[in-house]
Amino acid sequence: MDKYYQPEIETASVGDIRKIQLERLQEQVKHVYANVPYYREKMDKAGVKPEDIKELADIAKLPFNYKQDLRDTYPYGMFAVPLKDVVRLHASSGTTGKQVVAGYTRGDLDIWAECCARALTAAGCTDEDVVHVSYGYGLFTGGLGADGGAMKIGAVTVPVSSGNTKRQVNILKDFGSSILCCTPSYALHIAEVLHEMGYTKDDISLKAGVFGAEPWTNEMRLQIEELLGIKAYDIYGLTEIIGPGVAFECAEQTGMHVNEDHFLVEVIDPDTGEVLGEDVQGEIVFTCLTRKAFPLLRYRTRDIGVITRQKCSCGRTLIKMTKPRGRTDDMLIIRGVNVFPSQIETVLLEQGYMANYQIVVDRVDNFDTIEVQVEMTKELFSDTVRGIAERARELTEGLKSMLNINAKVTLLEPNTLPRSEGKAKRVIDKRKLHD
Ligand code: ADP
Ligand code: ZN
Repeated sequence: MDKYYQPEIETASVGDIRKIQLERLQEQVKHVYANVPYYREKMDKAGVKPEDIKELADIAKLPFNYKQDLRDTYPYGMFAVPLKDVVRLHASSGTTGKQVVAGYTRGDLDIWAECCARALTAAGCTDEDVVHVSYGYGLFTGGLGADGGAMKIGAVTVPVSSGNTKRQVNILKDFGSSILCCTPSYALHIAEVLHEMGYTKDDISLKAGVFGAEPWTNEMRLQIEELLGIKAYDIYGLTEIIGPGVAFECAEQTGMHVNEDHFLVEVIDPDTGEVLGEDVQGEIVFTCLTRKAFPLLRYRTRDIGVITRQKCSCGRTLIKMTKPRGRTDDMLIIRGVNVFPSQIETVLLEQGYMANYQIVVDRVDNFDTIEVQVEMTKELFSDTVRGIAERARELTEGLKSMLNINAKVTLLEPNTLPRSEGKAKRVIDKRKLHD
């Protein structure tokens, strides 16, 4: 049977969860209305008072909040408690612009650690495990998030942080690490270095990995699982909402359970703001139900996914969200066609390449161009020129049938693209430089 960290919540009936959610939502709306001028003004303008939240559906009366709002109130304008009650600050990695600052009370840190403990437990972690954390420690939430979860469980935490990959491999070996936490792109790089150093998965004791903080495909999961000899679990989160642990995968590996006693999830139409509900793709929106210092309501994540309450074989009743297929701002529009980097990754990995690739987009004479640069594997690199040309042609065709547009393919020698120790940078959009 699956182990749960908090079975009373993770397997609660939907009715019970909704009841907890409503009570917490009402309390949270009162809290921000009383303590954050930003929310009070915004709600007054929309003509909604805390008393108007009588049932969960009333959440739709509250205005949305956007990353820009966080930037406008930088750094502390959205905090709902005095700074003396804040014990930690984190900041988003700033992948898409100026960073946003999030504050935590002691209680907030505790909730966060609990959420991460649920994720680690779902990946099989107990107090007998050695948890190797290669997410960066610092303002980025990855390192301390995973660390807090492992501490709650009572596992041995190895706070390696990211970087110095050879040393990471030696520590994995020497300390007998059984669970690895890092970004999926870094997990792949660690696997690469392990093999370059002359070892295989049999020289380490890893059994599971908890990987997230960036989009990754199922094909990439299979590659990591094979190279490291582990089961790889997805974990999702964002600094604005709390960090990693907003949602986590169970052994079924068909989407992530949202910790919905703490984070209320909605899916909306990104263009109209209409609430779409379950089993329809749209933008994921979260409301923090319990976080006190920096409680975001109806936050537009720009992540695209689907939520569903279909029964899960793990026994958890928490609603599930699909792997987000990327953010709306990662979506490339090439000659009017929508392209997600994850679609390109799927084709590459299905054709036997490793996830070492880069996408270069440009505009030449008012015509969008897209080039997919991918490293050859060692075997392919030692093939004949004709063999390589044939593989390049196959890849061009595969991309064409996935994307419906022509992409230029460039096969590179192994080990030529930069490796990522955190979030991989997949897209270079030169059009933005010309604008
Ligand atoms: P930044 O916004 O600067 O990148 P964060 O580290 O808070 O800062 O990143 C959160 C974002 O990372 C999410 O909104 C999502 O787009 C992405 N992300 C996090 N976990 C996953 C995951 N498991 N799968 C796909 N995307 C993820
Ligand atoms: Zn499950």
